[in-house]
Amino acid sequence: MKNITISKLTNYFEKLPGIGPRQARRFVYHLLTKDKDFLKKFSFTIKTLKDEVGQCSECFKFFDTTENKNEPCEICQNTKRKKDTLLVVEKDVDMDNIERSASYDGKYFVLGGLVPALGEKLRNEIKMKELFSKVKKDSQNGLKEIILAFSATLEADNTGRYIEKILEPIIKNTKIKISRLGRGLSTGTELEYSDKDTISNAFKNRQ
Ligand SMILES: [Zn+2]
Repeated sequence: MKNITISKLTNYFEKLPGIGPRQARRFVYHLLTKDKDFLKKFSFTIKTLKDEVGQCSECFKFFDTTENKNEPCEICQNTKRKKDTLLVVEKDVDMDNIERSASYDGKYFVLGGLVPALGEKLRNEIKMKELFSKVKKDSQNGLKEIILAFSATLEADNTGRYIEKILEPIIKNTKIKISRLGRGLSTGTELEYSDKDTISNAFKNRQ
């Protein structure tokens, strides 16, 4: 008998971001050292993940909920947060990290991915159309600045240019400006791994 189950589970782990074949296999062998009860709870949490998580209808952030899965999240519902700035991030963890840094008190938008650098197709999970609609709506609602808060990478630059292009028709006759947080980060810096001071400096130095 070949070890089909081991390879099968290894393949699943390899699909996770940043996980190579060796790390994936290490996870499998590690799980084999755990008792059945742990594995049962672990797999049950994965199985029900999408049942107990909602996605905000305004900013598209994922959040824990068992009801109202398409309602606005706490941040979008919070009337104390400023409505004049919209911070666009690539992914949920970037938003979590900026929230932890306490450098920002406006609204967010989670794009769900970046635009690939060389002519590849836009992936479906990238919410460009939704961003367009959100900015269009907010532009009637006191929006003054859109901050593109991506990591300082080539793909992020490309995404910034793409967004500027698609939002141009909405903002060209308004005072809404688009600034970039990435210019306050050094090249190659990933927002996800940036500390509080780096993020707060990036806000101060945004252009
Ligand atoms: Zn939200």
